[in-house]
Amino acid sequence: MRFSKLRLTGFKSFVDPTDLIISDGLTGVVGPNGCGKSNLLEALRWVMGENRPKSMRGGGMEDVIFAGAHSRGARNFAEVSLQIDNTERLAPSGFNDSDNLEIVRRITRDVGSAYKANTKDVRARDVQMLFADASTGAHSPALVGQGQIAMLINAKPKARRRILEEAAGISGLYQRRHEAELKLKGTETNLLRVDDVIEQLA
Ligand code: ATP
Repeated sequence: MRFSKLRLTGFKSFVDPTDLIISDGLTGVVGPNGCGKSNLLEALRWVMGENRPKSMRGGGMEDVIFAGAHSRGARNFAEVSLQIDNTERLAPSGFNDSDNLEIVRRITRDVGSAYKANTKDVRARDVQMLFADASTGAHSPALVGQGQIAMLINAKPKARRRILEEAAGISGLYQRRHEAELKLKGTETNLLRVDDVIEQLA
């Protein structure tokens, strides 16, 4: 799976639709302080399913929506689209039936986030699993933000292990295990209820 284009609309400082083309090789983004370089990285994290406002440097998730500047008013929604070249069919099953995969996340004020994969509505979890299975995602160690190296050096062993697990591509399995455990708990509760009903009927 190769990322080929990131498009931001109304996301943080990128009020007008803006494309970042990710060509083969190294892509560098340079610019003066405050021009939006970190916002690009955050957009990438966000479209992959980031749901912690703090890691978007905001107090709430709606803070990613363009808040207005100079003569331009605030926007009502923000959208980020990520184009993925899937000609080698490396996307996990369920997403693997086309050469180009486009994941879109849109947040609307007072409504929340919605995701699409090639124009079809999908759940946040589906998108998070897609990237987790591809050994990338919102928490991927490949996305290195400012101050993160120092944080890694000072991190406790448990936190450091989580980073290694992300890099090893097993975080998708952890998420699946967690969901399976929740289902198991629910089933156990249901069984207890069935026992109660049987006892009452006996
Ligand atoms: P540096 O080199 O200093 O780290 P940078 O190029 O990484 O800077 P960013 O931190 O990505 O810049 O962008 C900061 C800019 O984004 C600021 O001008 C800030 O006002 C603007 N910004 C952040 N959130 C919003 C928002 N919701 N609406 C409008 N502008 C925003």
